Amino acid sequence: MYFDSVEAMDRAELEQLQVERLKKTIENAKKSPFYSERLADFNVNDIRTADDITKLPFTTKNDLRSQYPHGLLTKPLEDFVRMHASSGTTGTPTAIFYTQKDLDTWAELMARSMYACGCRKSDTLQNMSGYGLFTGGLGIHYGSERLGMITIPSGAGNTKRQIKLIRDHNVSVLHIIPSFALYFAQQVQEAGFKTEDMPWRIALIGAEPHTEEARAKIEEMMNIKAYNSYGLSEMNGPGVAFECIHQTGMHLWEDAYIAEIIDPKTGEHVAEGEIGELVMTTIRREGMPIIRYRTRDLTRFIPGQCECGRTHRRIDRITGRADDMMILKGVNIYPMQIEQCLMSMPEVGQNYLIELVREGVSDHMTVKVEIKEEFFVEDMRVLQGLQKKIAKTLCSEILLTPRVELCQHDSIPKTEGKAVRVIDTRDED
Ligand code: ADP
Ligand code: ZN
Repeated sequence: MYFDSVEAMDRAELEQLQVERLKKTIENAKKSPFYSERLADFNVNDIRTADDITKLPFTTKNDLRSQYPHGLLTKPLEDFVRMHASSGTTGTPTAIFYTQKDLDTWAELMARSMYACGCRKSDTLQNMSGYGLFTGGLGIHYGSERLGMITIPSGAGNTKRQIKLIRDHNVSVLHIIPSFALYFAQQVQEAGFKTEDMPWRIALIGAEPHTEEARAKIEEMMNIKAYNSYGLSEMNGPGVAFECIHQTGMHLWEDAYIAEIIDPKTGEHVAEGEIGELVMTTIRREGMPIIRYRTRDLTRFIPGQCECGRTHRRIDRITGRADDMMILKGVNIYPMQIEQCLMSMPEVGQNYLIELVREGVSDHMTVKVEIKEEFFVEDMRVLQGLQKKIAKTLCSEILLTPRVELCQHDSIPKTEGKAVRVIDTRDED
């Protein structure tokens, strides 16, 4: 392990550490305009165990927006050295400020995460995620340098140059967005290379929801081991929770964060092992502490111990954001249910898109699916058969029969950053 003493800490000791750090965090947070008001009447001595965190109020994305840009800062602006913003996938972005110490902590958590899935000092990492405001750029970058890897800041896009860099510099670790990984694997093959001849062995994939089926496809197409990486700007960025080599859920670094899983409707903790909304508190951030942040991400704690010996609890892959839920004809559907069906079908290629439209008084879902070249034949009857098969498989999962449109490989537009999986025009008029 990167830090044995912390990563394998006895649970009781770890909880004690959390309580101490939580108390300090509350006192520190009270120095910010926002929390000085919100926590004005809160007595820090009411925190005796980690469970007492439930006595504190939640912080929501709207709170962060209303406090934009400086309302949560506990120090004068001159003490800060960096700002990032969330990608704004779900609305107005929020700004996150870091002191030098916060950046150091982040790099350490990141290095620890990468070490857990087998990255070592002797590796070379190519960071194929967008730099700029997105935390996946500099966050992974500094963590990789902290671990001692040669770090190539290739950024997103320009597939040919990416391939050349990987080959020229014997790149063994990639950081790549999952939706782009499938496309990239294809590009590598089209450029005339076999993925098994590429020097890589590890892919860090995250930043967007993806299914176990998509991971399996990435691993197979790229001849690589792909590890799930979870984070969000409000909690620094990547390096919040990460898979170890056992790939049985992501260890969430509990010396730096207190994680809770709640029923999004009642705000109460769900039973251990049940799915709910992840709520996070920073306990190692000095410049901009955030208490009980409602991430809107849905997951569960995985019960039991991991074989690797790390004692920090694991969360399951994010099944989606609470905001991602689509309601069609009264049925609740998550995009990941659709991905799971599609990615388990051998005929399906790399990309798909879900469109929701209103026609008169009724709503319809069309699922556009890229089909692998070898299955895209001229015989209409064969294609119609495939179309029906996909619609039927989807229906068994989402309980509605969507329209299915078969698309040629590479014909659905791709984004360089997080994939857009759903286009919903129902409320536009
Ligand atoms: P935005 O909320 O605008 O996308 P961020 O760039 O901070 O801003 O992205 C954080 C969000 O990305 C998380 O809250 C989560 O929804 C998603 N995310 C990050 N990593 C993963 C992952 N490994 N699996 C699923 N979703 C992820
Ligand atoms: Zn483990």
